Amino acid sequence: MPTGYRDYYAALGVKKDASADEIKQAYRRLAKLHHPDLRKADEKSAATVKFKEINEAYEVLSDPEKRGLYDRVGAEGPGEAAPRRSAPPEGGDSFEGFSDFFEGMFGRGGEGFARGEGGRAAPRKGADAEAELSISLEDSLSGGDKKFSLSVPVLCPDCGGSGRRGRGFCPACAGVGETQRTRTISAHLPRLVRDGMRLRLRGQGGASGGGGEPGDLYLRIRLLPHPVFTATGADLETSVLAAPWDAQLGAEISVPTLEGPLRIRLPAKTHSGGRLRVAGKGLGKEGGGRGDLFVRVRVDITDKTSDKIEALYRELREAAA
Ligand SMILES: [Zn+2]
Repeated sequence: MPTGYRDYYAALGVKKDASADEIKQAYRRLAKLHHPDLRKADEKSAATVKFKEINEAYEVLSDPEKRGLYDRVGAEGPGEAAPRRSAPPEGGDSFEGFSDFFEGMFGRGGEGFARGEGGRAAPRKGADAEAELSISLEDSLSGGDKKFSLSVPVLCPDCGGSGRRGRGFCPACAGVGETQRTRTISAHLPRLVRDGMRLRLRGQGGASGGGGEPGDLYLRIRLLPHPVFTATGADLETSVLAAPWDAQLGAEISVPTLEGPLRIRLPAKTHSGGRLRVAGKGLGKEGGGRGDLFVRVRVDITDKTSDKIEALYRELREAAA
């Protein structure tokens, strides 16, 4: 039987000197892309072939011992010299098993290989995960403990994360070794978190196969829109209404802040559209401290009316003429 050469580096689209991390990343990306469960019926068969190729390549390149042997004898193969390109997949696109090339080099299912030498590969760390956490502007100031649910990758319960069942790939996770599950996570947020900030939650990411430590969870903070304040970077903007006489004469007025109403001085002769700055009442700023709150003043007449108010306005009109 011909042992068609398999170019595992080409299968994962990585260079020959790719690091373990690069190989892992390439594998995860491709495994998701070609996962047969995620494909339409008419694409399943082609995806399965591709998926099998990727898994076999990863099986070899992720294991330093197998990779070493592959690099040493790979091009010639264990038997005869072979063409430099990946052999076209043989028929019978089942999930099971490895190519003849693989079995020629590592034994059936690779089992003959790891055994005997006494050495199993070091357990790999679980995958890092990413998630977004949306919080209110108020909560961004105070920080504290937050609970939220998240769909995270967990070790496949059917195969314990190995991705294999017997000689073939685990059907439950299709060889990836992990599945998704909703988990409740609690995170301690620091004070003054900012929009777009990335927090690292150690050990809250994907579980590891083979007893390695779990991956980390990177939490991206998103600040929710607020009904009263508009955020621009660390600065906030809001608006207040002022009565014509207060705008003319100056007054003490109440303005909203994230921490509740605050009394500030409205200077005399403030025009409608004028902007007041309340220092340090904005959001958390990069490098520490807080941005400012800008209060847009809208001068408006009062809906309240009386004979006296009418009379005073008439007097005002005459005086201003
Ligand atoms: Zn599985």
